[in-house]
Amino acid sequence: MTTLPVHDVYAIRYAEQKERPEGSTFLGGNPATMIRGLDFFTYLIKGPAGTFVVDTGFNSDLSGEGSRNFLIEPRDVLSRLGIERKSVKNVLLTHAHFDHVGNLDDFPNAHFSIHAEEMYSITGPDMTYGPFMVAYHARDTKKLVELLYEERLSFYEDKVCSVAPGIEFHLIGGHSRGQMALRVHTRRGWILLASDAVHLYEEVKTERPFSIFYDLKVMIDGYRICNELAGGLDRLISGHDPKVTDWYPALAPEFAGVVLDLGEPPKI
Ligand SMILES: [Zn+2]
Repeated sequence: MTTLPVHDVYAIRYAEQKERPEGSTFLGGNPATMIRGLDFFTYLIKGPAGTFVVDTGFNSDLSGEGSRNFLIEPRDVLSRLGIERKSVKNVLLTHAHFDHVGNLDDFPNAHFSIHAEEMYSITGPDMTYGPFMVAYHARDTKKLVELLYEERLSFYEDKVCSVAPGIEFHLIGGHSRGQMALRVHTRRGWILLASDAVHLYEEVKTERPFSIFYDLKVMIDGYRICNELAGGLDRLISGHDPKVTDWYPALAPEFAGVVLDLGEPPKI
Protein backbone atom coordinates (compact mmCIF):
# COMPACT_ATOMS: atom_id res chain seq x y z
CA MET A 1 0.00 0.00 0.00
CA THR A 2 1.36 3.36 -1.01
CA THR A 3 2.02 6.12 1.44
CA LEU A 4 2.83 8.64 -1.25
CA PRO A 5 1.03 11.97 -1.00
CA VAL A 6 -1.89 12.52 -3.34
CA HIS A 7 -2.04 15.63 -5.52
CA ASP A 8 -4.75 17.38 -7.47
CA VAL A 9 -3.51 18.16 -10.97
CA TYR A 10 -5.32 20.47 -13.36
CA ALA A 11 -4.57 21.43 -16.94
CA ILE A 12 -5.34 25.06 -17.75
CA ARG A 13 -6.12 25.46 -21.46
CA TYR A 14 -5.26 29.08 -22.19
CA ALA A 15 -4.87 29.06 -25.99
CA GLU A 16 -5.82 27.05 -29.04
CA GLN A 17 -4.96 26.69 -32.68
CA LYS A 18 -7.75 25.32 -34.84
CA GLU A 19 -5.54 23.91 -37.57
CA ARG A 20 -1.94 23.93 -38.78
CA PRO A 21 0.03 22.53 -41.72
CA GLU A 22 1.02 18.90 -41.34
CA GLY A 23 4.53 19.99 -42.31
CA SER A 24 4.71 22.28 -39.24
CA THR A 25 3.65 19.42 -37.00
CA PHE A 26 5.45 16.30 -38.17
CA LEU A 27 8.89 15.85 -39.66
CA GLY A 28 8.33 15.16 -43.37
CA GLY A 29 4.67 16.23 -43.19
CA ASN A 30 3.03 17.90 -46.20
CA PRO A 31 3.14 21.70 -45.82
CA ALA A 32 0.00 22.01 -47.98
CA THR A 33 -2.14 19.66 -45.89
CA MET A 34 -3.95 21.24 -42.95
CA ILE A 35 -4.52 19.07 -39.88
CA ARG A 36 -6.01 19.66 -36.44
CA GLY A 37 -3.98 22.25 -34.51
CA LEU A 38 -2.60 22.35 -31.00
CA ASP A 39 -4.04 23.25 -27.62
CA PHE A 40 -1.86 25.17 -25.17
CA PHE A 41 -1.75 24.37 -21.47
CA THR A 42 -0.24 25.34 -18.19
CA TYR A 43 -0.81 23.18 -15.12
CA LEU A 44 -1.60 23.52 -11.46
CA ILE A 45 -0.56 20.95 -8.84
CA LYS A 46 -1.99 21.11 -5.31
CA GLY A 47 -0.88 18.80 -2.52
CA PRO A 48 0.58 18.57 0.97
CA ALA A 49 3.83 20.24 -0.15
CA GLY A 50 1.88 23.26 -1.40
CA THR A 51 0.86 24.67 -4.74
CA PHE A 52 3.01 24.39 -7.86
CA VAL A 53 2.39 26.20 -11.13
CA VAL A 54 3.86 24.27 -14.06
CA ASP A 55 4.83 26.46 -17.04
CA THR A 56 3.46 29.95 -17.62
CA GLY A 57 2.14 29.99 -21.19
CA PHE A 58 2.94 32.44 -23.97
CA ASN A 59 2.48 36.20 -23.70
CA SER A 60 -0.92 37.38 -24.97
CA ASP A 61 0.71 39.85 -27.39
CA LEU A 62 1.77 36.82 -29.44
CA SER A 63 -1.87 35.86 -30.02
CA GLY A 64 -2.58 35.58 -33.72
CA GLU A 65 0.96 34.54 -34.65
CA GLY A 66 0.92 31.14 -36.30
CA SER A 67 -2.91 31.22 -36.02
CA ARG A 68 -2.66 30.65 -32.28
CA ASN A 69 -5.60 32.16 -30.41
CA PHE A 70 -5.03 33.29 -26.85
CA LEU A 71 -8.18 32.46 -24.88
CA ILE A 72 -7.55 33.56 -21.29
CA GLU A 73 -4.67 34.66 -19.08
CA PRO A 74 -3.49 31.68 -17.01
CA ARG A 75 -3.24 34.05 -14.00
CA ASP A 76 -6.96 34.84 -14.34
CA VAL A 77 -7.84 31.14 -14.34
CA LEU A 78 -5.73 30.67 -11.21
CA SER A 79 -7.60 33.56 -9.59
CA ARG A 80 -10.93 31.90 -10.43
CA LEU A 81 -9.53 28.79 -8.72
CA GLY A 82 -8.82 30.84 -5.59
CA ILE A 83 -5.07 31.19 -6.15
CA GLU A 84 -3.86 34.77 -6.38
CA ARG A 85 -0.75 35.09 -8.53
CA LYS A 86 1.17 36.99 -5.83
CA SER A 87 0.69 34.07 -3.44
CA VAL A 88 2.34 31.53 -5.79
CA LYS A 89 5.66 30.40 -4.33
CA ASN A 90 6.82 27.74 -6.80
CA VAL A 91 6.83 27.70 -10.59
CA LEU A 92 8.27 24.66 -12.37
CA LEU A 93 9.40 25.18 -15.97
CA THR A 94 9.49 22.12 -18.24
CA HIS A 95 11.60 23.91 -20.89
CA ALA A 96 12.05 27.47 -22.15
CA HIS A 97 10.13 27.59 -25.45
CA PHE A 98 8.04 30.77 -25.76
CA ASP A 99 4.73 29.06 -25.05
CA HIS A 100 6.02 27.71 -21.71
CA VAL A 101 7.93 30.64 -20.16
CA GLY A 102 6.01 33.80 -21.05
CA ASN A 103 4.26 35.80 -18.33
CA LEU A 104 7.02 35.18 -15.75
CA ASP A 105 6.29 38.62 -14.25
CA ASP A 106 2.85 37.36 -13.28
CA PHE A 107 4.43 35.66 -10.27
CA PRO A 108 6.46 38.33 -8.45
CA ASN A 109 6.93 36.29 -5.28
CA ALA A 110 7.65 32.91 -6.84
CA HIS A 111 10.82 30.87 -7.08
CA PHE A 112 11.35 29.31 -10.51
CA SER A 113 13.19 26.14 -11.48
CA ILE A 114 14.35 24.65 -14.77
CA HIS A 115 16.89 22.06 -15.87
CA ALA A 116 20.49 23.30 -16.18
CA GLU A 117 20.76 21.75 -19.68
CA GLU A 118 17.99 24.07 -20.88
CA MET A 119 19.71 27.13 -19.45
CA TYR A 120 23.05 26.14 -21.04
CA SER A 121 21.22 25.75 -24.33
CA ILE A 122 19.41 29.12 -24.38
CA THR A 123 22.43 31.15 -23.22
CA GLY A 124 25.20 29.50 -25.24
CA PRO A 125 26.35 28.31 -28.65
CA ASP A 126 23.17 26.29 -29.32
CA MET A 127 21.40 29.57 -30.09
CA THR A 128 23.74 30.27 -33.01
CA TYR A 129 21.85 27.51 -34.88
CA GLY A 130 18.62 28.78 -36.42
CA PRO A 131 16.69 25.51 -36.12
CA PHE A 132 17.46 25.32 -32.39
CA MET A 133 16.57 28.97 -31.72
CA VAL A 134 13.25 28.87 -33.53
CA ALA A 135 10.87 28.46 -30.57
CA TYR A 136 12.70 30.67 -28.05
CA HIS A 137 12.19 34.39 -27.49
CA ALA A 138 14.97 36.67 -26.30
CA ARG A 139 12.72 38.52 -23.84
CA ASP A 140 11.93 35.25 -22.02
CA THR A 141 15.60 34.31 -21.83
CA LYS A 142 16.52 37.80 -20.56
CA LYS A 143 13.86 37.46 -17.88
CA LEU A 144 15.22 34.08 -16.81
CA VAL A 145 18.71 35.60 -16.48
CA GLU A 146 17.24 38.44 -14.40
CA LEU A 147 15.54 35.90 -12.15
CA LEU A 148 18.87 34.12 -11.75
CA TYR A 149 20.53 37.33 -10.53
CA GLU A 150 17.58 37.98 -8.22
CA GLU A 151 18.26 34.55 -6.69
CA ARG A 152 14.82 33.41 -7.82
CA LEU A 153 15.89 30.73 -10.32
CA SER A 154 17.36 27.35 -9.43
CA PHE A 155 18.44 24.41 -11.52
CA TYR A 156 17.90 20.69 -11.68
CA GLU A 157 21.06 18.91 -12.77
CA ASP A 158 20.24 15.20 -12.58
CA LYS A 159 18.30 12.85 -14.86
CA VAL A 160 15.66 12.33 -12.18
CA CYS A 161 14.98 15.15 -9.75
CA SER A 162 12.67 15.10 -6.74
CA VAL A 163 10.51 18.23 -6.47
CA ALA A 164 8.54 17.04 -3.43
CA PRO A 165 7.33 13.62 -2.27
CA GLY A 166 5.14 12.31 -5.10
CA ILE A 167 6.39 14.90 -7.64
CA GLU A 168 9.45 14.13 -9.73
CA PHE A 169 11.03 15.74 -12.78
CA HIS A 170 12.64 13.52 -15.45
CA LEU A 171 15.10 14.95 -17.96
CA ILE A 172 13.92 13.70 -21.36
CA GLY A 173 15.69 16.07 -23.78
CA GLY A 174 15.22 15.57 -27.52
CA HIS A 175 12.62 18.23 -28.34
CA SER A 176 14.78 20.75 -26.48
CA ARG A 177 18.10 20.06 -24.79
CA GLY A 178 16.67 20.37 -21.28
CA GLN A 179 13.11 19.18 -21.89
CA MET A 180 11.63 17.65 -18.75
CA ALA A 181 8.51 15.62 -18.01
CA LEU A 182 6.84 15.76 -14.61
CA ARG A 183 5.57 12.64 -12.88
CA VAL A 184 2.94 13.33 -10.24
CA HIS A 185 1.18 11.00 -7.81
CA THR A 186 -2.58 11.58 -7.88
CA ARG A 187 -5.68 9.87 -6.54
CA ARG A 188 -5.58 7.55 -9.58
CA GLY A 189 -1.87 6.81 -9.12
CA TRP A 190 1.04 8.24 -11.06
CA ILE A 191 0.43 10.37 -14.13
CA LEU A 192 2.98 11.99 -16.42
CA LEU A 193 2.79 15.61 -17.57
CA ALA A 194 4.88 14.98 -20.68
CA SER A 195 4.94 18.64 -21.76
CA ASP A 196 6.63 18.86 -25.16
CA ALA A 197 8.45 15.56 -24.74
CA VAL A 198 5.17 14.34 -26.30
CA HIS A 199 3.22 17.06 -28.14
CA LEU A 200 0.66 14.68 -29.62
CA TYR A 201 -0.36 11.11 -28.83
CA GLU A 202 0.45 10.16 -32.43
CA GLU A 203 4.14 10.59 -31.58
CA VAL A 204 3.97 7.77 -29.03
CA LYS A 205 1.62 5.55 -31.03
CA THR A 206 3.60 5.57 -34.30
CA GLU A 207 6.89 7.25 -33.32
CA ARG A 208 6.21 9.90 -35.93
CA PRO A 209 8.61 12.72 -35.00
CA PHE A 210 7.45 16.23 -34.18
CA SER A 211 8.92 18.83 -36.53
CA ILE A 212 10.90 20.86 -33.95
CA PHE A 213 13.72 19.11 -32.13
CA TYR A 214 17.23 19.42 -30.74
CA ASP A 215 18.16 15.73 -31.09
CA LEU A 216 15.94 13.45 -33.17
CA LYS A 217 17.12 10.14 -31.69
CA VAL A 218 16.78 11.42 -28.14
CA MET A 219 13.30 12.79 -28.91
CA ILE A 220 12.07 9.43 -30.24
CA ASP A 221 13.68 7.61 -27.32
CA GLY A 222 11.80 10.12 -25.18
CA TYR A 223 8.45 8.96 -26.62
CA ARG A 224 9.26 5.45 -25.39
CA ILE A 225 10.53 6.66 -22.02
CA CYS A 226 7.45 8.82 -21.44
CA ASN A 227 5.10 5.96 -22.31
CA GLU A 228 6.97 3.71 -19.88
CA LEU A 229 7.07 6.32 -17.10
CA ALA A 230 3.36 7.01 -17.54
CA GLY A 231 2.37 3.34 -17.66
CA GLY A 232 0.05 3.82 -20.65
CA LEU A 233 -1.59 6.54 -22.71
CA ASP A 234 -4.41 6.95 -20.20
CA ARG A 235 -1.81 8.23 -17.71
CA LEU A 236 0.28 10.23 -20.16
CA ILE A 237 -0.78 13.85 -20.56
CA SER A 238 0.55 15.08 -23.90
CA GLY A 239 1.70 18.69 -23.99
CA HIS A 240 -0.39 20.01 -26.89
CA ASP A 241 -2.86 17.37 -28.06
CA PRO A 242 -6.46 18.68 -28.20
CA LYS A 243 -7.45 15.12 -27.28
CA VAL A 244 -6.51 16.05 -23.70
CA THR A 245 -9.39 18.55 -23.85
CA ASP A 246 -11.63 15.93 -25.47
CA TRP A 247 -10.83 13.21 -22.96
CA TYR A 248 -10.56 14.84 -19.53
CA PRO A 249 -13.54 16.22 -17.59
CA ALA A 250 -13.78 19.87 -16.61
CA LEU A 251 -13.25 20.58 -12.92
CA ALA A 252 -16.79 22.02 -12.87
CA PRO A 253 -19.28 23.02 -15.60
CA GLU A 254 -18.18 26.67 -15.47
CA PHE A 255 -14.64 25.56 -16.34
CA ALA A 256 -15.60 23.58 -19.47
CA GLY A 257 -12.73 23.62 -21.95
CA VAL A 258 -10.55 25.66 -19.57
CA VAL A 259 -9.71 23.65 -16.43
CA LEU A 260 -9.38 19.89 -16.91
CA ASP A 261 -9.17 17.52 -13.96
CA LEU A 262 -6.26 15.18 -14.72
CA GLY A 263 -6.89 13.21 -11.51
CA GLU A 264 -9.91 11.67 -13.20
CA PRO A 265 -9.52 8.82 -15.70
CA PRO A 266 -9.84 10.01 -19.32
CA LYS A 267 -12.70 8.99 -21.61
CA ILE A 268 -10.52 7.69 -24.43
ZN1 LIG B 1 8.52 23.15 -26.88
